[in-house]
Amino acid sequence: MKPASFDYVRAESAEHAVQALAAAGGDGKVIAGGQSLMPMMNFRLVKPSVLVDINRIPGLDAVQMRGDRIVLGALVRHRMTATDMLIQKHIPVLHHAMKHVAHLTVRNRGTFCGSVCHADPAAEMPMMSLLLNGAVHIVSPRGERTLAAQDFFVGSLVTALEPDELVTEIEIDTLPAGTGWGFEEFARRHGDYALAAVAVTMQRRDGVASDVRIGLMGVGEMPMRAPQIEAMLEVREIDAALLDEAIDALRASLEPNSDLNASADYRRHLAGVLARRAISDAWARAEKGAAA
Ligand SMILES: Cc1cc2nc3c(=O)[nH]c(=O)nc-3n(C[C@H](O)[C@H](O)[C@H](O)COP(=O)(O)OP(=O)(O)OC[C@H]3O[C@@H](n4cnc5c(N)ncnc54)[C@H](O)[C@@H]3O)c2cc1C
Repeated sequence: MKPASFDYVRAESAEHAVQALAAAGGDGKVIAGGQSLMPMMNFRLVKPSVLVDINRIPGLDAVQMRGDRIVLGALVRHRMTATDMLIQKHIPVLHHAMKHVAHLTVRNRGTFCGSVCHADPAAEMPMMSLLLNGAVHIVSPRGERTLAAQDFFVGSLVTALEPDELVTEIEIDTLPAGTGWGFEEFARRHGDYALAAVAVTMQRRDGVASDVRIGLMGVGEMPMRAPQIEAMLEVREIDAALLDEAIDALRASLEPNSDLNASADYRRHLAGVLARRAISDAWARAEKGAAA
């Protein structure tokens, strides 16, 4: 199918972009990589009257260190995130997760920030921004604001963004040296959206786990953390009994939807299988990290 007709604005700056969005009176859409927006427009699931193209705005395509955090500009493509040396060194769990995202052509266009703004509950980048305590920087005609990732996601494909707001960058944690990590995903074919995925990071100090983080996707309306399970593992040695207890508690806490791809029961079971592997991997890597 073809999209409904629309006007097109090529923004020269962030200010220009938000002015054009404001002038569209709530009916404008930012286009970054277009890898989610264009299919939705082609199916006429969205019919913006104005497309505001941010691809020519200078300065938005960098991955940079800011203190001990990493900042991804609004035009950082998936391919850049997947190959960037800072990310590979300081956030290996994100480097690994990017291997599961889509196919080469999509990765060449799609952006980290665009994926977070699209807020698909089965997409890797929203989950990773939650796991890494993401801060979403936003501009609008009213000025600037920053939202924590956990306040940014409001529902499936729904965020706290107003129609005249532009995300300029997302800031995420780096992980201290020696941090253990695990990432497990199940998709029917490599590069497809996943049925479910789990990402875990932790450190190991004096033989017990600390700073445990668990992110999940594909098992709810939004990407999520599992604070109850994180707390269960904190300051404990992760042995088989504790792992069993944690996986049972995780499954009991989830309320996935049934859809064409999988039943709720299947997704709940799958999340437990993936979490068991990801937690075990993170614990094993943390042991090596502690010994190094
Ligand atoms: C065949 C195929 C397979 C895919 N597989 C996967 C996969 O396995 N995992 C995965 O995570 N994704 C997958 N995707 C989606 C892909 O990652 C998209 O690139 C991503 O979801 C959106 O990024 P984008 O830059 O293309 O955003 P766009 O499509 O340009 O925009 C998406 C939405 O975000 C808004 N937006 C974009 N940037 C901004 C901004 N800076 N400020 C405010 N609003 C903004 C747009 O208005 C729109 O509503 C797949 C896509 C395709 C076509």
